[in-house]
Amino acid sequence: MDKVIKTDAEWQKDLSAEAYRVLRKHGTERAGTNDNFPKDAGMFRCAGCDAPLFEQDTKFESGTGWPSFYAPVDGEMVGEQVDRSFFMKRTEVHCNRCDGHLGHLFPDGPAPTGLRYCINGAALTFEAED
Ligand SMILES: [Zn+2]
Repeated sequence: MDKVIKTDAEWQKDLSAEAYRVLRKHGTERAGTNDNFPKDAGMFRCAGCDAPLFEQDTKFESGTGWPSFYAPVDGEMVGEQVDRSFFMKRTEVHCNRCDGHLGHLFPDGPAPTGLRYCINGAALTFEAED
């Protein structure tokens, strides 16, 4: 995989303020602010580097106000790391291509994986299929 590496100043210039705060500063958007993506078939991509991360087919209505998926399109592309901030043990997920923070992974998702990738909408762009 070709890593996308930029300086902090370059990221700040290339990303929207909210995407920068989420992807580069491990921010979390307010629930319900960025889950108004189209329902068409297509691909959710990293807002930082355009890597394909999640397919529409794996998106489900979690009721949390954050885009939620039960599986990444490619396990290689979405990395995991234990996050002990805020006195909780959670699994942080990030884009392996640009190391941008995406959200968190919880073990309470639907079948077939039982996983819930709880992703900040600001970290995603959606590309509908032709
Ligand atoms: Zn990325």
